Amino acid sequence: MKYIPTIGLEIHAELKTKSKMFCSCLNDSLQQHPNVNICPVCMGHPGTLPVANEDAIKKVMQVGLALGCDIPAKSKFDRKNYFYPDLPKGYQISQYDMPLCKGGKLRNINITRVHLEEDTGRLAHPAGVNYSLVDFNRAGVPLMELVTEPEITSAKEASAFAQELRLILRYLGASDANMEKGQMRVEANVSVRPEKQKVLGTKVEVKNLNSFRSVHDAIEFEIKRQTEALESEKKIIQETRGWNEQKGETFSQREKEEAHDYRYFPEPDLPMLSFAKEEIQKIQSEIPELPQRKRKRFAEEYKLSEKEIEVFVQNKDIGEYFEKVVSELGENLKPEKLQRKTKLSANYILSDLLGLLEGASVEGEDFLITPENFAELVNLIDQGAISSAIAKQALREMFATGKDPSNIIQEKGLEQVSDASQIQEIAKDIISKNPKAAEDYKKGKQNSLQFLLGQMMAATKGTVSPEIAKKALLDIL
Ligand SMILES: [Zn+2]
Repeated sequence: MKYIPTIGLEIHAELKTKSKMFCSCLNDSLQQHPNVNICPVCMGHPGTLPVANEDAIKKVMQVGLALGCDIPAKSKFDRKNYFYPDLPKGYQISQYDMPLCKGGKLRNINITRVHLEEDTGRLAHPAGVNYSLVDFNRAGVPLMELVTEPEITSAKEASAFAQELRLILRYLGASDANMEKGQMRVEANVSVRPEKQKVLGTKVEVKNLNSFRSVHDAIEFEIKRQTEALESEKKIIQETRGWNEQKGETFSQREKEEAHDYRYFPEPDLPMLSFAKEEIQKIQSEIPELPQRKRKRFAEEYKLSEKEIEVFVQNKDIGEYFEKVVSELGENLKPEKLQRKTKLSANYILSDLLGLLEGASVEGEDFLITPENFAELVNLIDQGAISSAIAKQALREMFATGKDPSNIIQEKGLEQVSDASQIQEIAKDIISKNPKAAEDYKKGKQNSLQFLLGQMMAATKGTVSPEIAKKALLDIL
């Protein structure tokens, strides 16, 4: 019998706001000292009142609009009641039946809802002692939760969905969404059913997935585990499972609570939210170009390969730098010429410049190559004024000093030598200095020609094109 997996995702992302969700404490996920960004509100002291963070609401609405969600005119906050040491109030302010965003789609997967809530504190369990520690810096940090319909059918698709969402969150500036730092957390609901069965199988919720690899591997493991259980006619229990990265296995944590266990009720200390059409339109109008549109535009405008485009889309600042370089390549260029120079720019940015940057950004103060200078380098290569070896050398120098390429080439005497008689002179000189190699070549030793060519390239610091140098040597030999 064939089995079909069904996966739904619940993705939490910490929003990049200045302050927390319901108080004015700093929202700083990098804070190393415990319990410094706290106040009576986020510590749940009696008599304190929450005030909703407008920026957090706008950010979630913008995410919703970017995903094509419907933004209802009214929305409200609810209390989700449960006890846990990282939750000082004894309840979490979340959204139950009136979320900020409903519907929407990403990578052809329907989105159920996107809502806003607050994060909890962090627990630490030091080894060898009989107590745990709690840090409330994260308590009350605005958290977005996105829930998909159970429509994903493979681990690969689930991981791709999460990656694309992360990219969109970053483009919007809604969240840094770094999974390793816990700024984005994925839970996967996985079930398996026999092909002919219409109703979904019993679902298992896998938590603590803190990398895209874990998302992929944990889902793959669950599909296999559940399929094998069904094949041997074992029952699958509805439960929450954790992911053990070292063992590459999921493990049972606890049987799942039902929603009514949380005793959701409307948060009485916060008013109902209501939005005018114009407000929603304004938020929509502030959405920047998103990855999918950028892919399309880069394909149409610059005729780059899918692989090249993806690097520019994934590294937004590099993509923007590339576009600035292209805009500096010259005015009123013929389409073929512009196309050729655009391709050259992409090549040098994606291979040589990225190599020099090694993960650093082109936005920092340390980055010295202006788009004008980069475009000038590309023009010099395109005109044949410098070889690709010289271009690489000049680029390293530009990266280190910020000087413009023409100056570097002049200062270092790196101009391409194209004068035939000059090249012939150099070739003659090399042969007269290496008589043995010349003799050996005449006796049929091909390697000797390579040696002479190497000598010639060294003597000219690569300013002669290897083909022309080789021809000049052969003429004399
Ligand atoms: Zn606070």
